[in-house]
Amino acid sequence: MSSNYDVIVIGAGPAGYVAAIRAAQLGLKTACVEKWINKQGKPALGGTCLNVGCIPSKALLESTELYDQARHKFADIGIQTGALSMDVPTMIARKDKIVQELTGGIQQLFKANGIDWLQGSGKLMADKRVQVTASDSSAQEYTAGNVIIATGSVPIELDATPLHTDIVVDSAGALDWESVPERLCVIGAGVIGLELGSVWRRLGSEVVVLEAFDTFLPMVDTAVAREAMKIFKSQGLDIRLGSRVMGSKVNGQEVEISYKDANGDATLKADKLIVAVGRRAYSNEVVSAEANIGMDERGLVHVNEHCETNIPGVYAIGDVVRGPMLAHKGSEEGVMVAELISGGYGHVNYDVMPNVIYTHPEVAWVGKTEQQLKSEGVDYQAGSFPFAASGRAKAKGDTGGMVKILRDKASDRLLGAHVIGPGASELLGQSVLAMEFDGTIEDIARTIHAHPTLSEAMHEAALSADGRAIHIANRRRS
Ligand code: FAD
Ligand code: AMP
Repeated sequence: MSSNYDVIVIGAGPAGYVAAIRAAQLGLKTACVEKWINKQGKPALGGTCLNVGCIPSKALLESTELYDQARHKFADIGIQTGALSMDVPTMIARKDKIVQELTGGIQQLFKANGIDWLQGSGKLMADKRVQVTASDSSAQEYTAGNVIIATGSVPIELDATPLHTDIVVDSAGALDWESVPERLCVIGAGVIGLELGSVWRRLGSEVVVLEAFDTFLPMVDTAVAREAMKIFKSQGLDIRLGSRVMGSKVNGQEVEISYKDANGDATLKADKLIVAVGRRAYSNEVVSAEANIGMDERGLVHVNEHCETNIPGVYAIGDVVRGPMLAHKGSEEGVMVAELISGGYGHVNYDVMPNVIYTHPEVAWVGKTEQQLKSEGVDYQAGSFPFAASGRAKAKGDTGGMVKILRDKASDRLLGAHVIGPGASELLGQSVLAMEFDGTIEDIARTIHAHPTLSEAMHEAALSADGRAIHIANRRRS
């Protein structure tokens, strides 16, 4: 194996492996350093996303959603099942198989693109030298014309609630329980806390979610967040806002959690506790002082709009830099950087970044929220359409939620789209595309949407912005 490359990527999550593949496609001699050891004790590519994040969580959300439907919906739609039972170990095994197939797929793609996988822990030294330490502690040094730091993030741990075997766990630990806890507490009502809380709630756990903030999902459009709270509560998720966790203590097989809310000090007991209080950039351990890379006190690597650090030829992408911690954000940055390195053009449109919470119903949004537009003093108009009025949603028996769109009054441009409802993640795609193409509400209104589809709700929301919706009574405009 050579020791000199055009590009060395450190980290093979969705940011790093995509950067490596694109760089190799562009003819650059590329290596990727990755240290991940998977559940089976084998080196693996794919990072957090494929191993313990996006993919395994969605596999369990799918299994548990189907189980929940079988329990609560099948009889209503005319399906009798007889006695229903769950098989959690099979759900976990299915999830593990999907992970292994996908991470194995990245390995194949690396081979097909001629990318060298340098197994071990990489450290960036001065002059774009990368030291790789293998699991047997042997170290080797490589040099590169360009280095891309793509070392991602790790869960934030709270000193007051230390992880404890499989009783107090982070998000990764909560993907591997083979039996259903009777009482589950989740710290943090963010995206990860809500998704994991939903998984175990659907399987029968009593779930309490403790959230320090008084506002539920502050980054989501207020109307959508309100609807989400109502629906999640009806599903039995006990979400307690304004509840700051102060500590936890494991006693035998249970854990006692102490927290403060508006009424003072409180405690609750649970069989399992998930700490889902956010993630921190993983950088300090990766960059030596001699590399002289600028970072902030939280470990975020400083980069410009092209993801270049203060050292020319050293880039950083994905969770380790500013911006939302999302797989697709990191991947797009990876493509941009590879294209810039090869002398091409690269750009990421951070204003048009889709976000999804994969609960049921899903919550998905792009662009500005109504509260943001208000605070920015933008002259906007909102349009919305409830799934209760959608023929397709009725046929599916899944009518909770709505589509809401926001347009600039003067230019008619789409400023934001917010969906809570069935298939919201897929439905959002058309708004993302419309915004990327600088589309207007009139463009969506004039686009033919197949009937009956959930996408008609987006069409009707666009029409409703200026009182033209067909299947709801429009508010009279003076
Ligand atoms: P990572 O995926 O964290 O990858 C970084 C890689 O770098 C790791 O493989 C690590 O081993 C490696 N590495 C670190 N240091 C070194 C070193 N010194 N040497 C060698 N290798 C190193 N995002 C979404 O967009 N959609 C979702 O549905 C979603 N669901 C999620 C669910 C959960 C439970 C979690 C935890 C996260 C979820 N995310 C989701 C977030 C998503 O996983 C991250 O945004 C994404 O993985 C970031 O990609 P990345 O490549 O920057 O970093
Ligand atoms: P996210 O960053 O989206 O993953 O969400 C993490 C959530 O955890 C945020 O909404 C935080 O307010 C919340 N959080 C952080 N620390 C605590 C704590 N000690 N008690 C309760 N909630 C917390």
